Amino acid sequence: MTTKMQTAQISKAGGEWELVERDIPEPGSGHVRVKVEACGICHSDVFVKEGLWPGLEYPRVPGHEVAGHIDAVGDNVLGWRPGQRVGVGWHGGHCFVCDQCRRGDFAMCVHRKVTGIDFDGGYAEYMLAPVTALAAIPDELPAEEAGPFMCAGVTVYNALRHSGARAGEVVAVHGIGGLGHLGVQYARQLGFATVAINRGNDKEPLARQLGAHYYIDASAHDAVTALQKLGGARVILATAPNAQAISALVDGLSASGTLLVPAAPAEPLTINVMSLISGRRSVAGWYSGTARDAQDTLEFSALTGVHPMIETYPLHRVADAYEHMHSGRVRFRVVLTVDG
Ligand SMILES: [Zn+2]
Ligand SMILES: [Zn+2]
Repeated sequence: MTTKMQTAQISKAGGEWELVERDIPEPGSGHVRVKVEACGICHSDVFVKEGLWPGLEYPRVPGHEVAGHIDAVGDNVLGWRPGQRVGVGWHGGHCFVCDQCRRGDFAMCVHRKVTGIDFDGGYAEYMLAPVTALAAIPDELPAEEAGPFMCAGVTVYNALRHSGARAGEVVAVHGIGGLGHLGVQYARQLGFATVAINRGNDKEPLARQLGAHYYIDASAHDAVTALQKLGGARVILATAPNAQAISALVDGLSASGTLLVPAAPAEPLTINVMSLISGRRSVAGWYSGTARDAQDTLEFSALTGVHPMIETYPLHRVADAYEHMHSGRVRFRVVLTVDG
């Protein structure tokens, strides 16, 4: 058996993609080795590429939308076996010791690890992962679809299912991109009156195909007025990274509505606080979720027929793939595929 593997790494902040041969690593206690089959490229991989994550150590192999199968298990691994299909997402494990873990809130662990940031991720033929980062992939999901569910998917699905919105209430998804095209599908499948908001009407047919009951062209109509005609949105999931556009949406909420922001725009929001007070509204962030949340996402997606729209590139074309992801021309997620 070969002892070497291909990886795509970044060796300094702002550095170029490097294809590097490394030794295939051996899993330690509580870890498995994953034979990677596919790995999505997430906007958050810019943290590694450009050195925007405090304390990041180089060289680093990014990638936290991993799908593959277990290839070897280390000591003290219970419940996972070689051959099992697994995903590894943003949540790269937790400590079981801190106060948040003692309360069972593992996503909020103060020592939580991030895959592809705190340890090498899935832009490689093999990677190591702690068992606390593993999600089992249902048989019917192909690896290249499972990958994007491990970050983009779990982030919006977990945000929506914990949002407090109930079946039949109005939920709007702002921005039809990498997160938004999944958000519309989940909102529909969770039973919400689903509104898609985007600038222009070119994405209206797609949004309706993904399940939107209503489409608001924010360049032709005032989104707030249009939402209030529907009674206001119980939840607005803001996925377009535009602080000004997001801030203005607060007035489109119903009483007790929530503006839910799962991805950070570069600029701060500017919120009309009187609107929050008078309507008892709130603005909230959402943090991805645990590996079990990711597995819930995979299972719900397989059950209800939610699919990411993807474009695939082989691992050795990582530079082209990354550039395409950040060009804004991608529809809607780029996934690296790994042969063998
Ligand atoms: Zn991500
Ligand atoms: Zn902890």
